[in-house]
Amino acid sequence: MKLMGTEGELAGVLGHEIGHVVARHAAEHLAKAQLTEGLTGAAVLVTYDPDDPSSQRTAAVAALIGNLINMKFSRDDELEADRLGVRFTSEAGYDPRAMISMMETLAQASKGQRPLEFFSTHPNPDFKPAK
Ligand SMILES: [Zn+2]
Repeated sequence: MKLMGTEGELAGVLGHEIGHVVARHAAEHLAKAQLTEGLTGAAVLVTYDPDDPSSQRTAAVAALIGNLINMKFSRDDELEADRLGVRFTSEAGYDPRAMISMMETLAQASKGQRPLEFFSTHPNPDFKPAK
């Protein structure tokens, strides 16, 4: 919130996140997470040998891969959340173009340091305003 220059930019972020909720991405995500958890659990059981301490590392890698798979919404989910976010932002009386300056602000803040958490799950769509 400290990075947001205007109320409209904050509305853009919230609109995008509400878009994920309205489009039920989390529910789809959770279903996928449970499937991955089941598969990862099976991989851990298969690779872990109590008599071999090094097998614990293989099991840990299997768990890590499971987490990585679940880290992001899909690009389609992000595009849908962006579309809904633009709609909600404008319906709430804000200029939806604030989402563009919000993305620019976040991109600027991510330079030269570790990427902001938002960008690890929400890559900058790099959209340009239509003429
Ligand atoms: Zn998103």
